[in-house]
Amino acid sequence: MDNDFPLNEEEIDGYVKIDRYNPEKVARIAAHYADILELLGEDPTRQGLLKTPERVAKALQYLTHGYDLNAADILRGAMFEEEYSQMVVVKDIEVYSLCEHHMLPFFGKAHVAYIPNGHIVGLSKIPRVVDIFARRLQVQERMTNEIRDCIQETLNPIGVAVVIECKHLCMCMRGVQKQNSVTTTSAFTGEFAHERTRNEFLRLITASLS
Ligand SMILES: [Zn+2]
Repeated sequence: MDNDFPLNEEEIDGYVKIDRYNPEKVARIAAHYADILELLGEDPTRQGLLKTPERVAKALQYLTHGYDLNAADILRGAMFEEEYSQMVVVKDIEVYSLCEHHMLPFFGKAHVAYIPNGHIVGLSKIPRVVDIFARRLQVQERMTNEIRDCIQETLNPIGVAVVIECKHLCMCMRGVQKQNSVTTTSAFTGEFAHERTRNEFLRLITASLS
């Protein structure tokens, strides 16, 4: 079986997902896509399309693999006691997701901050949490809240802030064709309800190092 999306250790993070390409699922999804190609007026038996249904089936399983991962467990696995109590900001996290209304990609950046309350988390876990909620059918608004809630409930920090900016291909490629519009969503808890703290976060995510 050719593997279009090989997993590396970092990506599975200790979670062994044996059925990443569950052959039965691949075959069933692929059969539907062969029908879809025909319904679209294509010839699924022509050379370029021969393996397309199977590739699409695998791609979709990869793009929705967040369903199989537990973001809270991943955070809990890398929590450390630490008295640091200033804002921790992880910005410019790449986001790739699929809108649940059209199953078309939306993508952009997430910026996440929290103010620790006795516990910090390994920094690489924040992008992991973003990715787990992005790798499924989503709406940007819900994804923003899910990331916030997961960090709040797991780390119990003094506050969490999440800002996500994405382009939605369902908007760019069809219908209104607002090609350059970017959708921004945000979600805050705790200390970030205060304007001063929120403004500090917004200043940090818009500032550049140079
Ligand atoms: Zn859409």
